[in-house]
Amino acid sequence: MNLLGCSPQGLTDWCVARGEKPFRARQLLKWVHQRGTKDFAEMTDLAREFRAGLEQDAEVAPPAVLQDHVSADGTRKWLFDMGQGNAIETVFIPEVDRGTLCVSSQAGCTVACPFCSTGRQGFNRNLTTAEIVGQLWWARHELAQPVTNVVMMGMGEPLLNYDQLVPALQLMLHDDAYGLSRRRVTVSTSGVVPMMDRLARDCPVALAVSLHAPTDALRDVLVPLNKKYPLKVLMASIRNYLGAAPRDFITFEYVMLDGVNDSLDHARQLVKLVRAEEISCKFNLIPFNPFPNSGYRKSSWPRQRAFADFLTQEGYVTTIRKTRGDDIDAACGQLAGDIQDRTRITLRTK
Ligand code: SF4
Repeated sequence: MNLLGCSPQGLTDWCVARGEKPFRARQLLKWVHQRGTKDFAEMTDLAREFRAGLEQDAEVAPPAVLQDHVSADGTRKWLFDMGQGNAIETVFIPEVDRGTLCVSSQAGCTVACPFCSTGRQGFNRNLTTAEIVGQLWWARHELAQPVTNVVMMGMGEPLLNYDQLVPALQLMLHDDAYGLSRRRVTVSTSGVVPMMDRLARDCPVALAVSLHAPTDALRDVLVPLNKKYPLKVLMASIRNYLGAAPRDFITFEYVMLDGVNDSLDHARQLVKLVRAEEISCKFNLIPFNPFPNSGYRKSSWPRQRAFADFLTQEGYVTTIRKTRGDDIDAACGQLAGDIQDRTRITLRTK
């Protein structure tokens, strides 16, 4: 058993089933997640027989690193091997007052948003809890700077991998593991409504919703999941989530696509939508990162600025996401395309 994938409760149950006291699980969590120890022999406050049993039945196995890139701006990107030609990427973004790790939840994605290089790649498989947590484990013990924030915004739709995601979130939050506050762990979703409702009950953390369009007609195209969960249903779920969320607002992600969703009319429709639905929110505008044959272009800076200014004047906190790690292709929306290429390279060299 890979201990990186054991939820705090799961590990307690496992220890008790082996005749150990429940507090052994807390000791193990600290050794594995806080100190980054893989070698059970080093866990000297555990009884010798327990350690011998661990050697036999357990392991601490983070995913193998295929590539490791550092950008001129300090952004760090790892390519992790998921086996059978699959790979995922994890990006660390250092800032003065925080260090944010962008974590992947699936190899590929089924939602298939046409502007997203992950969506174009198709779906390979869900990551396990150990593979999700393994990205954080690796970053925490590799980096000089602490990881203060985690955003589930890497490859994949995290809420379509719910059963593996929730134990990973529990470990991120647990004081004996990573001890992050709920406000500093963000799940980003394209709007998987039933799972948003479950997350509100099971493990409410900060939520970001990839909106990308103010009307059903346009969102049906840009986020095909909208056909299943249209805006009215999505907004009702968001209102419900806000009742449980650690923050009193939701973040809407909005990719800026030239001539598609970036006019002032779109901005007006957006304000009308969130006002009518009484959603407390802020907007994060994401400059599109072009990739080969995407068929979309990045909105010009004046269009991005005008869109942001309109939302701000209407009273909504609006940011335009800074592009980081350009020189190592770590910018948002570039991960999967890059992975696809690198996976091919990996396959060739095997
Ligand atoms: S934008 Fe998100 S939900 Fe859409 S295809 Fe890409 S990874 Fe999947």
